[in-house]
Amino acid sequence: MSTVVTKEIIHVTDRCKSCDHCTSVCPTGAIKGRLGEKHYIDHKKCVNCGQCLINCPFGAIVDMSMAEQVKKALADPSKVVVVQTAPAVRVALGEEFGLEPGANVKGKMFAALRRLGFDKVYDTEFAADLTIMEEGTELIHRIFAHVGVPGYEKSGPLPQFTSCCPAWIKYAEDRYPKILPHISSAKSPQQMFGAVAKTYAAQKLNVNPADMYVVSIMPCTAKKYECQREEMIASGFQDVDAVLTTRELAQMIKDAGINFLSLPDEKADRLIGSSTGAATIFGVTGGVMEAALRTAYEILSGQSLGNVEFKTVRGRKPIREATVNIPIKELGKTVPVNVCIVSGLKYVNEVIEDVLAGRSKYHFIEVMNCPGGCINGGGQPIRRDTY
Ligand code: SF4
Ligand code: SF4
Ligand code: SF4
Repeated sequence: MSTVVTKEIIHVTDRCKSCDHCTSVCPTGAIKGRLGEKHYIDHKKCVNCGQCLINCPFGAIVDMSMAEQVKKALADPSKVVVVQTAPAVRVALGEEFGLEPGANVKGKMFAALRRLGFDKVYDTEFAADLTIMEEGTELIHRIFAHVGVPGYEKSGPLPQFTSCCPAWIKYAEDRYPKILPHISSAKSPQQMFGAVAKTYAAQKLNVNPADMYVVSIMPCTAKKYECQREEMIASGFQDVDAVLTTRELAQMIKDAGINFLSLPDEKADRLIGSSTGAATIFGVTGGVMEAALRTAYEILSGQSLGNVEFKTVRGRKPIREATVNIPIKELGKTVPVNVCIVSGLKYVNEVIEDVLAGRSKYHFIEVMNCPGGCINGGGQPIRRDTY
């Protein structure tokens, strides 16, 4: 089955009323047009985050849909269709069925996916654990190189930036290519899942990876762009074939006539469906960084990390920082590690410029495009009643 390849995910339709609101929420200045003129998107600058889409008061902005492709795969008996669900979806999906924001409908979501015909229902948290291990280990190697532990000289530079937000990655590639060596080489949980599904899981399930179709349910429109990046073929195939947003999953459930609220609670399939739970906090800003930092701390010190106290940096509100003192067994000394969380791309420039100028005090920096993190991603339910 061929996959539609388009990297222009977000579009302004003729419903645009030229109110100009979208330009105030776009983090990259990609939306063009004056008051009174239909607006349009400069796709070179756009990072596909969908913040304009969820904030347009007239519903004039849409994202490219892969729903028809997914339905075709589900109807094809030669395909084994595997689905993964991100942590931020389960606490937002219920809104589309009249529940309060934050209601956890994980069990009903897994049940609905089975009734839609998915052959295997998995949780992205498994792959998020892998991302934590990879990012945490990479951070350790970079810290070792920084403090002069022999054998780690070729590790990347500090600070290390997180890599799991595809909007942030596109922004860095477009605007600050010199910062790329600082970005973790770990794939996002979505992409790790796809690669593991079409290799390890395919082998365990005795399925030819060519016949496996991997779908992600994400709170994020930029994930539609990420899955189509040309390097995301570690399994020898496109690792993730299609992405549906939380909104699109809700629509599929409604279109199929499934009474979502009356579904029983079901569990994810096991093979790659188990996780430590550490990855649940990926959905909010600070979650990725804190989970990887905990891993690094435990490996380096042999102890558990207590609560990390973050403080807002004065005058840079969506920027928070903390210092964690890590006792490193190998060195017999304690090393202070300065960490930073940036929530919203419009605040990242000054942090990057400090790094490039060699005046950054940070060792580990998390960057997420959407305000508050993926829980407020461009694929989440739209609250029109706020206008
Ligand atoms: S917010 Fe919507 S209606 Fe207003 S200018 Fe942007 S696309 Fe047009
Ligand atoms: S998707 Fe994001 S970057 Fe692209 S135009 Fe909309 S708000 Fe701007
Ligand atoms: S913060 Fe999360 S939802 Fe928003 S663009 Fe990044 S990965 Fe997607």
